[in-house]
Amino acid sequence: MLLQETWQKGLQWDDNLPKDLKDAWENWCSEIEHLSELTAPEIEKAELYWIKQTQQSIFNREIDSLKREKSIEKDSKLYSLNPKLDENGLLVVTGRLQFSEFSQKEKHLWILPNGEKFTILLIQYAHKKVLHFGIASTLAHLREKYFITKSRKNVKSVLKNCIICKKFNAFPGKQEIAPLPKDRTVEFLTFLTCAVDFAGPIYIKTRTGSEKAYIVIFTCAATRAIHLEVATNLSTETFLLPFKRFISRRGLCKTIYSDNAKSFIKANKILNEVWSRISKSKVQQYFFENKIIWKFIIPRASWWGGFWERMVRSVKTPLKKILGRSCLN
Ligand SMILES: [Zn+2]
Repeated sequence: MLLQETWQKGLQWDDNLPKDLKDAWENWCSEIEHLSELTAPEIEKAELYWIKQTQQSIFNREIDSLKREKSIEKDSKLYSLNPKLDENGLLVVTGRLQFSEFSQKEKHLWILPNGEKFTILLIQYAHKKVLHFGIASTLAHLREKYFITKSRKNVKSVLKNCIICKKFNAFPGKQEIAPLPKDRTVEFLTFLTCAVDFAGPIYIKTRTGSEKAYIVIFTCAATRAIHLEVATNLSTETFLLPFKRFISRRGLCKTIYSDNAKSFIKANKILNEVWSRISKSKVQQYFFENKIIWKFIIPRASWWGGFWERMVRSVKTPLKKILGRSCLN
């Protein structure tokens, strides 16, 4: 209000303040220290003051009519609420709970006009009190004391501007999806371009008990066909066996995509080990002889391998449900 007064007087930023404004400013500065020491009766008094001010600014006509003990006009927005004045001279709803055992405040809610500054502040306060819950909870909290006209609409518009809720409800930015590469769209022979990945572990029976094994998943890039093999351990030689079986069964492939060792997360240490071993000379030599191009995706960019990771999920989920921790022959 002090700033408003300064503006109304047309003062520039480097002008000296008039004496009355200066005194008011110094008084305000000295009082602000005691704000935290406000007592409950003082807060209640302030609340009543602001309710009165807000009601008078909009429902002045209705208050005048009720003071003169006249009924309010039929065209008034409050006509259907059958309002009355309480002991503080504030407009309250008569309601239908006169014979209930609720307190006077609960029976007769204070009427507040929608869209007014005080009403908006009350809605914001109620919204914080209900820990940023939605419209229904905020309204329920407000209706313990206040009756706001067109309350739902008003609460909705205030909540729409809540920064905290906005942050949490925001949708991630949308990105235009790039076209699929040629390997994914042009249909050659099945498995001519494929991807390989590991899933597991599963448990298999051995003569001495049980041991871990891994499923090697080969996925065709164009047709989404799947070929499954079992790798009994993590050595390079053992990977070559299922790979040779795959080649013998499905034919030689031209391009193989796979996850990069570096892109596996720490939790997947075992699979990391597999890939670091695969990238050693023996396997590379086999690929060179058969002219197979092995394309590693960019490290730490696992979304690049989406088309085979999805297939890993499709294999893993039903297997997990059916096998659990049981041992396979
Ligand atoms: Zn919020």
